[in-house]
Amino acid sequence: QTPLLDVRDLRVRIGQGDKRVRPVDGVGFSIAGGETFALLGESGCGKSMTALALLRLLPDGGRIDGGEVSFSGIDLLAQTEAHMRDVRGGKIAMIFQEPSTSLNPVMTVMAQIGEVLARHRGLRDMPARVEARRLLDAVGIPDVERRLDDFPFQFSGGMKQRVMIAMALAGDPALLIADEPTTALDVTIQAQVLDLLARLQAERGMGMLLITHDLGVVARMAQRIGVMYAGELVETGARGDFFRSPLHPYSRKLFAALPTDAQRGHPLAALGGTVPPLDRDFTGCRFADRCPAAFDLCHRDAPAWHTVGGQGVRCHLYAAGHGGPDATAPFGN
Ligand code: SF4
Ligand code: MG
Repeated sequence: QTPLLDVRDLRVRIGQGDKRVRPVDGVGFSIAGGETFALLGESGCGKSMTALALLRLLPDGGRIDGGEVSFSGIDLLAQTEAHMRDVRGGKIAMIFQEPSTSLNPVMTVMAQIGEVLARHRGLRDMPARVEARRLLDAVGIPDVERRLDDFPFQFSGGMKQRVMIAMALAGDPALLIADEPTTALDVTIQAQVLDLLARLQAERGMGMLLITHDLGVVARMAQRIGVMYAGELVETGARGDFFRSPLHPYSRKLFAALPTDAQRGHPLAALGGTVPPLDRDFTGCRFADRCPAAFDLCHRDAPAWHTVGGQGVRCHLYAAGHGGPDATAPFGN
């Protein structure tokens, strides 16, 4: 069975010569219909850039350098820009941390949802209004009929997020890309919006690419996980396996850095060091400078991808003859 989305060896380059960076450097994963795949990692690891590349929405000076992106069997990298405009907001919709990224402040909610309904589903006038009402109802906006003609600023943060979700659903997407969809919300509202997304996804059988730096969000939402570090995937696996035994030293640091209740709102604060700049060619492992288990080889050779049961990991510790996971202790901070 063909997956809904199949990404292989995706590479993105921004800029030229000395100034060029490679924010996505050989990333591959697939997502089935109805499945949530989470890309997890700190900011600056290439998660958002991966999502933008799928939709061919790279910033100025950015280009896709290689790889394949197949969506429902269609090669997205080979489509015309006109066809991509039909795909974006239609069969693939995207929501962001900041609703203001996708909501227009000077248009009413009805006008904005109406644009999507007209463009992607051919609905206008009364049928569009009926459908917009149904969508806002589905995302839990109270008093819908009155609120249809409100402007985005008249909604609270959580409600604005719901409006953005309604707008994303208006094109009847088969895949929803959600980039830190709840990061800007307080914990209670965050849980409500995540529950809403999970419910809508189940009802519609949508696939979801969820981008987050938050292990709690991953635990709640994802069936499978890919951990990104410095432009590469460093670990993949099913949620159960990942939470039972994270393999990569970076994954383990993410767990060790989980905020206590007192530190909530400062995710990953305890993780020492920073993601290396992506403007150079790496020799060894990209995580070597921060890795508590690094040894000689790590500074010399880039680790290959190894399979451990159903999990995959990019780390020398899992090479044959290396003793496996037990050799990685101790971890933590
Ligand atoms: Fe750490 Fe070496 Fe594994 Fe990289 S390859 S994560 S430096 S042990
Ligand atoms: Mg991001």
